[in-house]
Amino acid sequence: MKLNELKLRSFRNYGETAVAFDPGVNLIVGDNAQGKTNLLEAIAYLGSGKSFRTQKTGELVRFGGEFGEIEGKVFSQDREQTLRWVLFPGSRPRQLWRNGAKKKSNRDIAGVLPTVLFCPEDLMILKLGAAQRRRFGDSALCGLRPNYDAALTEYSRILDQKSRILKDHFDHPEVLEILPEYNTRLCQVGALLISYRARFYDSLGKAAAKYHSQFSGGTEEFSLEYKTVSTVSDPFAPVSVLTQNLLDHLDSHHRAELETGQCLTGPHKDDFTVTLSGIDLKAYGSQGQTRTAAISLKLAQRELMAREWGEEPVLLLDDVLSELDSGRQDFVLNQITTGQVFITCCEPGRFTRLGKTIVIQNGNVM
Ligand code: ATP
Ligand code: MG
Repeated sequence: MKLNELKLRSFRNYGETAVAFDPGVNLIVGDNAQGKTNLLEAIAYLGSGKSFRTQKTGELVRFGGEFGEIEGKVFSQDREQTLRWVLFPGSRPRQLWRNGAKKKSNRDIAGVLPTVLFCPEDLMILKLGAAQRRRFGDSALCGLRPNYDAALTEYSRILDQKSRILKDHFDHPEVLEILPEYNTRLCQVGALLISYRARFYDSLGKAAAKYHSQFSGGTEEFSLEYKTVSTVSDPFAPVSVLTQNLLDHLDSHHRAELETGQCLTGPHKDDFTVTLSGIDLKAYGSQGQTRTAAISLKLAQRELMAREWGEEPVLLLDDVLSELDSGRQDFVLNQITTGQVFITCCEPGRFTRLGKTIVIQNGNVM
């Protein structure tokens, strides 16, 4: 997939902007707070309908703007395609067009412009909390499987409703009557999430192990393990079995949930661990090992996307190369010699020879 042209209108700090891109490397250069990350955010949003910075669509519209617009000309699936989003600051629903035809949901454009974002926080992914790792896994899996995206949205919705019941029951005990219904539905959809995640983490771990081995010269054996609810003995089991596993765990935590007023069990607590030759990275990994393993995970994510959609996804490197020592920079650059890449940085330095340079100043392309 290649993004050939992008037009923005009242998106973040951009007024009206049109920019043409190189099919290879695009270097986005500018001082702090000029709009470099905003540009990557627009590209990611164009293809996914999701921002990597906010859940609130309204924040994407320029301060004081009536609406915001992102439009892109994409070469994908062997043809030119256009994608266009119109976003509103209030509660008015956003609008999406693909090739001039109005579409209902981001799932209608799955695979047209998949992107993989890599930013400095990702380098610490294996040292941070489970929530960050879940966010990484969910975002990657949503980009691969539109049905997972739908199931995850459904799960969050049921979880919110159940949370409200658990909070309200202290003052209104009658709400507990509907709790079993929510628990059943939560376990059914939760089982589906686990099933997707088991397969995803298995493929991701295998692909990442290959990159890590290349980079560490084969001295460290990278292994990734998906962690879910303790009653799930086999995450690859049929969804009906997983559903029963989740119900069992929920049963044993029923009283605790009522007492604390919180949803204590379910795949919303999932995590994954990485070991290097059997040693837990989170507890014992050096900074270098942690970074190399994180780079391997990101390259693996990109590889799974390419396998799924049949073309390299667009890679968005936000400030990440300048964070790396030259050995790791070279490793990343050597792995991404194909496909389209957007690299943001303040000090382009040695990167300028890589491709087209685009200078951003105060929400304008110079
Ligand atoms: P850095 O090098 O520090 O990462 P950057 O070039 O990536 O900087 P961005 O994050 O792209 O900077 O842009 C930040 C600027 O955009 C900030 O000045 C912020 O106030 C502005 N901004 C963010 N959202 C909006 C909005 N909805 N309307 C207008 N301006 C906005
Ligand atoms: Mg930035």
